[in-house]
Amino acid sequence: MTEVPDLATGAPQTGESDAGALVVVATPIGNLADLSPRATEELAGAELVCCEDTRRTGLLLSRIGVRARGLRRVDAHTEAAASAEVVDLVAAGHRVVLVSDSGTPVVCDPGRRLVAAVVQAGHGVVVVPGPTAAIAALAGSGFAADRFAFEGFLPRRGRERESRLQQLALEQRTCVLYESPKRIAATLADLARCCGAERRAVVARELTKLHEEFVRGSLAELVAWSASEPKGEIVVVLEGAPDAVEVGDEEIVAELSSALAQGLSPRDAASRAAAELGVSRRRAYELLHRE
Ligand code: SAM
Repeated sequence: MTEVPDLATGAPQTGESDAGALVVVATPIGNLADLSPRATEELAGAELVCCEDTRRTGLLLSRIGVRARGLRRVDAHTEAAASAEVVDLVAAGHRVVLVSDSGTPVVCDPGRRLVAAVVQAGHGVVVVPGPTAAIAALAGSGFAADRFAFEGFLPRRGRERESRLQQLALEQRTCVLYESPKRIAATLADLARCCGAERRAVVARELTKLHEEFVRGSLAELVAWSASEPKGEIVVVLEGAPDAVEVGDEEIVAELSSALAQGLSPRDAASRAAAELGVSRRRAYELLHRE
């Protein structure tokens, strides 16, 4: 391993050793130039590279001129079996690299069980940090990022999705979500319904690629934008809910009455009142039934 001293102190780096370890390596989310020199070095020196898709990682390796000693597919189905082999290799003093199709492994990608198995066996885990779509989108959003919540993909349907949306409606931290182009329109519409049409958000699309764009606006504006059927990879960054102000029952009841008078179902009326006034949907529901 090439010796590169710590930027501030000049001391040897953590993780820079020839000891056996599982090395979690972040790879580009679109732009090959984002692969770090350390990542290349670990890939070149690894006894085994564990990846989601051998063809995709094979392509990455050929682009950077690295011939892997071994390449093994590790996905949700094969992770348990691979863990035993990886633990043995690390115990024998080898470096095993874990990558995913793009970005940081384990973040909405396979690998967690592999990392846990190596930790459990008492061996070293080293991380070579790099691209993650969530952090890139957050950094470009312009929203508060000292505290934030990463939501990954929302559940696709049902009560689980609705309950997650209701949590987002009240969440005061900036929230980061992954979404596919096929479902982005439905997700933005659900966010507008639950969080209020005026809540601001950013859609970060095709980050680090030729057609990278940040689409900024209220959820209502983004719903309108999504009618153009956007393509590519997408992250949604949702601004946090405003500070909760004490809202009286009368105010909620007035909002419910107005929503019902406009023909909304009781369920939608409760959702709208909750989103508009920043109160829980359960409280709005209870008031609806008390009336
Ligand atoms: N491990 C990856 C990471 O570190 O970001 C995430 C993998 S997850 C299976 C894939 C999702 O990440 C995509 O559906 C999209 O939401 C987001 N994503 C990945 N690359 C992206 C990019 N270049 N631009 C925008 N979003 C991206």
